[in-house]
Amino acid sequence: MSRRLLLAGGGHSHIEVLRRWALAPEPGIELVLLSPDRHAAYSGMLPGHIAGHYSHTDCHIDLDALCDAAGATRIATTVAGLDPLARRVIAGDGSTQDYDWLAINVGSTPATAGIAGSDRHGIAVKPVARFLAHWEELRAAALSAPRALELVVVGNGAAGVEVVLAMQRRIAGEGGRAHFTLVGDSPELLPAHPAAVRRRFAQKLKDRGIRLRMGLPVIRASAGLLKFADDSSLTFDEVLWITGAGAPAWPRTSGLECDERGFIRIDATLRSLSHPEVFASGDVAGMVDAPRPKSGVYAVRQGPPLHDNLRCALRGEPLREYRPQRRALALISSSDGSAVASYGPLSWQGEWVWRWKERIDRGFMARYRGNSDKN
Ligand SMILES: Cc1cc2nc3c(=O)[nH]c(=O)nc-3n(C[C@H](O)[C@H](O)[C@H](O)COP(=O)(O)OP(=O)(O)OC[C@H]3O[C@@H](n4cnc5c(N)ncnc54)[C@H](O)[C@@H]3O)c2cc1C
Repeated sequence: MSRRLLLAGGGHSHIEVLRRWALAPEPGIELVLLSPDRHAAYSGMLPGHIAGHYSHTDCHIDLDALCDAAGATRIATTVAGLDPLARRVIAGDGSTQDYDWLAINVGSTPATAGIAGSDRHGIAVKPVARFLAHWEELRAAALSAPRALELVVVGNGAAGVEVVLAMQRRIAGEGGRAHFTLVGDSPELLPAHPAAVRRRFAQKLKDRGIRLRMGLPVIRASAGLLKFADDSSLTFDEVLWITGAGAPAWPRTSGLECDERGFIRIDATLRSLSHPEVFASGDVAGMVDAPRPKSGVYAVRQGPPLHDNLRCALRGEPLREYRPQRRALALISSSDGSAVASYGPLSWQGEWVWRWKERIDRGFMARYRGNSDKN
């Protein structure tokens, strides 16, 4: 009888599992992907897509094509819960899916739990498909609005900075009318990056007319109004949530061991600390021995060891330990034909950095289109 390996979520690690599975399928294993969307977004190219530099196809991976190649089935649903004792996933539509082995790579969503009303007002950058549909409406509204729209991006990390620059470039380039404000709760932009990177982006935002409002957390969102911790406020026509990563609630409520923020605790083999038949990777997981920031780089790098360890687990062989790299290179685009590279205390800027980023990103996508090296 065949055994069932469920992949929950078409994240950056699971696309690599599928790609490698296609090269050598495992006999006697039914491989199933649970993903509500046919297309998985590659977030490294998302700001470029918002800016109009990349098409939707350029920055999305066709999960059905990957599943076809791997002999896997995609079931179009979300994971809403888990019964780990019964080895059963509860899907968003109430149906259930049994598994022998489960791997979870569902990413994160912006952490806005502490902001009252954020679930009813504004739009979060993830899920990406919903965000992009909303972005199209926003662009159209900026073109036809009788006055400039007030657009607020909450989140002063790299993603928030890239997205606000991309939106400004696109709307201004199309003749739309909008004012932008970037809001962050730390005193400085890009707190995880060196001072030179922060200075460069502060200047770019200023040059592009994007206002900054730093140093105070937003505590409440209501129709057209953000309230800050000091009781000051900011009006908006639309607010976009691009705050740091937050975990889905269901891993914790299902009984998987999670850290204090709700991310699944995994060991060096990428296996759940509490449930050895469950693996997790990417943003939704936290490696207890080697904690790292939530970043696509780590989700991508976990793909090959996750694939190898799933095979080992299925074959009853010992798992191998994986040690993530200590730090990741961030290539942050400014949607003006240039980008900034940030690596530990070092940074570089220029058109060549953008070309470098573009080469890396397009190379990454080519791996999942079957038109590049097979290894
Ligand atoms: C605008 C932006 C730009 C970024 N740029 C970079 C960058 O340049 N470099 C970098 O390293 N990081 C970047 N990041 C961070 C990066 O997006 C994440 O760290 C990365 O996507 C995490 O990968 P993942 O595989 O864990 O999850 P994801 O890439 O988010 O994939 C998870 C998948 O699971 C699906 N899913 C979600 N919930 C469920 C569910 N309940 N059931 C089934 N499926 C589900 C999602 O739809 C998605 O397809 C950026 C983030 C943003 C928002």
